[in-house]
Amino acid sequence: VKRVYAFGKDAEGNNVTEGNTNMKAILGGKGANLAEMANIGLPVPPGFTISCQTCMEYANADNTWPEGALDTIHEYRLDLEKRIGKKIGDAEDPLLVSVRSGAPMSMPGMMDTVLNLGLNDQSIHGLIKQTENPRFAWDSYRRFIQMFSNVVMGLDGDLFENAITAMKNARGVASDTDLTAEDLQQLVVEFKQIFSENVSGVEYPSLVVDGVVAFPQDPMVQLKLAIEAVFGSWNNPRATLYRKKNKISDDLGTAVNVQCMVFGNKGNTSATGVAFTRNPANGEKEFYGDYLVNAQGEDVVAGIRNTSPIADLKHVEGLEEAGQQLEEIFVVLENHFRDMCDIEFTIEQGKLYMLQTRVGKRTAAAALHIAIEMEKEGLITKEEAVMRVEPEQLDQLLHPQFDKNAEYDVLARGLNASPGAAVGEAVFSAADAVAAAEAGRKCVLVRWETTPDDLAGMIAAEGILTSHGGKTSHAAVIARGMGAPCVCGVEALKIDAEKKQAAVTGTDVVIKEGDMISLDGTTGIVVLGAVDLVLPELTGDLDTILEWADEFRTLGVRANADNPEDAQLSRDFGAQGIGLCRTEHMFLGDRKQIIQTFILNEDEDIRQKAVDQLFEAQTGDFYGMFKAMDGLPVIVRLLDPPLHEFLESPRALDVEIARLEATGGDKGVIAEKRALMEQIDAMAEANPMLGLRGCRLGIVYPILPVMQVRAIATAAAKLKKEGLDPKPEIMIPLVSVVPELAKLREVAEQTIAEVAAEQGVELNIEIGTMIELPRAAVTADEIATKADFFSFGTNDLTQTTFGFSRDDVEAEFIPQYLKERLLPYNPFATVDPGVAKLVKMGVELGHQGNPNLTCGVCGEHGGDPDSIHTFHNIGLDYVSCSPYRVPLARLAAGQAAI
Ligand code: ADP
Ligand code: MG
Ligand code: MG
Repeated sequence: VKRVYAFGKDAEGNNVTEGNTNMKAILGGKGANLAEMANIGLPVPPGFTISCQTCMEYANADNTWPEGALDTIHEYRLDLEKRIGKKIGDAEDPLLVSVRSGAPMSMPGMMDTVLNLGLNDQSIHGLIKQTENPRFAWDSYRRFIQMFSNVVMGLDGDLFENAITAMKNARGVASDTDLTAEDLQQLVVEFKQIFSENVSGVEYPSLVVDGVVAFPQDPMVQLKLAIEAVFGSWNNPRATLYRKKNKISDDLGTAVNVQCMVFGNKGNTSATGVAFTRNPANGEKEFYGDYLVNAQGEDVVAGIRNTSPIADLKHVEGLEEAGQQLEEIFVVLENHFRDMCDIEFTIEQGKLYMLQTRVGKRTAAAALHIAIEMEKEGLITKEEAVMRVEPEQLDQLLHPQFDKNAEYDVLARGLNASPGAAVGEAVFSAADAVAAAEAGRKCVLVRWETTPDDLAGMIAAEGILTSHGGKTSHAAVIARGMGAPCVCGVEALKIDAEKKQAAVTGTDVVIKEGDMISLDGTTGIVVLGAVDLVLPELTGDLDTILEWADEFRTLGVRANADNPEDAQLSRDFGAQGIGLCRTEHMFLGDRKQIIQTFILNEDEDIRQKAVDQLFEAQTGDFYGMFKAMDGLPVIVRLLDPPLHEFLESPRALDVEIARLEATGGDKGVIAEKRALMEQIDAMAEANPMLGLRGCRLGIVYPILPVMQVRAIATAAAKLKKEGLDPKPEIMIPLVSVVPELAKLREVAEQTIAEVAAEQGVELNIEIGTMIELPRAAVTADEIATKADFFSFGTNDLTQTTFGFSRDDVEAEFIPQYLKERLLPYNPFATVDPGVAKLVKMGVELGHQGNPNLTCGVCGEHGGDPDSIHTFHNIGLDYVSCSPYRVPLARLAAGQAAI
């Protein structure tokens, strides 16, 4: 097996790159694109990439090296030295390298990287000689020891930061850059001391020299330990959590890139930066990013010093040419990758080097805007534009914003790093954010700057607020990726994380833990107190992409709604009808009393009176629904749940009776309550989900479907007389055998005919059924003879196919099943292949029984992108989902058709 791949040029300037951008599974994203950039002639410092497979083999063999791997690395290292004409560890002119992680899927900042590797007490003098810059050299050495200790040996970074702070205090200077070469040389001594004192000789016997642990002087030892550490970082807790959250497989492994160092910290004509070829927050076509002069590596993202905007670069003395070249490279990269790219670069004494590129992460708004603009520029096709937007991402656009009518005072302003608004209690650590979320309290995570260790807290928080860092800082990048609102770089915030509070400069406000704060990541505003949030209006870009998706899609999209407001909302979002109107939701509130009277009384007169009242109410409900959906189909499902769902809980009654008895309550009242409790108890079912519900209810209590059908027909007749075009359809739930459907169909048809005659209007109301029991699916040919349409209720169909009770299993054992991979995903979220097979069978058999049958899905799965793909492939006519999922479903259906 080939384990190592070269990239970049040889000594003669020939490209000797062995990989390319399509090899991400082997080289990781970073390695594959370093190779690709080298292939298209961009300035990439040479190096080699160790494959992801080697990482997995190493990890799976309990952190031991596969046979021959170290030899191959050794060969490639020698070759690299030849290509550069320098040797690692050389006392005259040393080669320094970075050892960089890079997985097949982008996991920004989750794994480890070591810079300046190869420095030791000899090569430092070579570096001084070559650069004639002792300050730079000592700074590089102290950075290397610091990074190596932290990343490879796992020492606390604060040990070193504290030593730097002590040195600055001793010298009376404010900034790291004010420390002299001698100061830094002294720090190197101190850092090595810290290393010796804190690294365990038992754990690393090979580092023990003369009885004490010493910082490794052999560059080969440094290199091996660094590569092992990068391999190990694949399984560090934050990387593992990130993969779980982003559904990335644990089996991919990370590649390791060993690359020649270039230096952004060699003075004022050197710089380092990160950039995007377009604005990743709103998609605007502009160069976007930050740089720092005389800095290295993570300085920009770490938010340690204040950065400058990338557009300024070409106006800085000594950086003009590199700045100009960078802008040209932005265009080259966009044309090559045909997408917005994210870039890391370093300028060493005026010469530009590209250190990384990948297709850039972006907000949903930016994804839409970029896709549309690139289509207009002719860079991509309309199909590609539709494919460029993640359906799940659209949720972000439907995120809340500050209510425009809300009154509030702006407390502070920062950078609008990730859109959407958040309201919650201020918390000052990731652990507190997690604790608040677990206690069901909404919180905003307030940090100086976030680090990868804060990830769990960032996930738990409603929004993220930082006082440092630019729009490409860790907080900003991660928040955008998660779709969480984020305001960063709020310089007025003086955070004291220890005391869990933040003073706000220029005010006498001190935000304390637990204080409500609001932030708007779209504008960068921070407010003390809770601001009312509203949902945003859809932008023109969303409409455009959805219209394009509509051009491709063959699957219809309807909504599940049971009140006129939701119906109108789904219509505004582009729903082509209502696929499921649940009537049980119309029996709540004051109506509950009426249905209870019906259920609990045997007396026919009292029952009839209750049903008459329900008829009045239902006619009004349907009138509103059909009116809002004028001209579009509205499928009304007849009453479905077990009746005792409408009754008091017998346990609560029992408690109440006990209390009345204990306090000497009225005997008559107690007797009445006891009778009621016994009656309810008598109706209880051992297994209500499989009990008296669905069509079975209508067969036992025919008065109910008659009332509902009459209300549907009456409302439709009324609207027709008003000149509108109502299109109700009647759906009979939980059918398992044809006679059930036949019987209720007859009742419904007869009732519709009666109403039509009474009202003097013609009514054509289709009657269909839900397919939510396996028996119905496998006998769909028979059932279809009595149905105008099928709607697959995939929630119940999943329950009944698996024999899983949804209410029980999701909490009880599905999490364990997922962990042990007994199930690849939750079948209630994404339709299971077995259930999908039943749907497919139902559709095919159904068409045999009735060639004109319309088939849709109305379960939760109708709003899930993966399931939508499945339903498209099965050839369903439509999916129906909750109103807010309608835009997502339109997009996913369009993508499924491309
Ligand atoms: P991450 O995946 O966390 O972004 P990288 O491997 O990209 O980690 O390294 C982080 C930073 O280190 C880079 O953005 C770059 O600034 C610096 N860096 C890495 N390799 C080199 C190199 N060969 N020369 C100079 N700087 C480097
Ligand atoms: Mg990087
Ligand atoms: Mg059902």
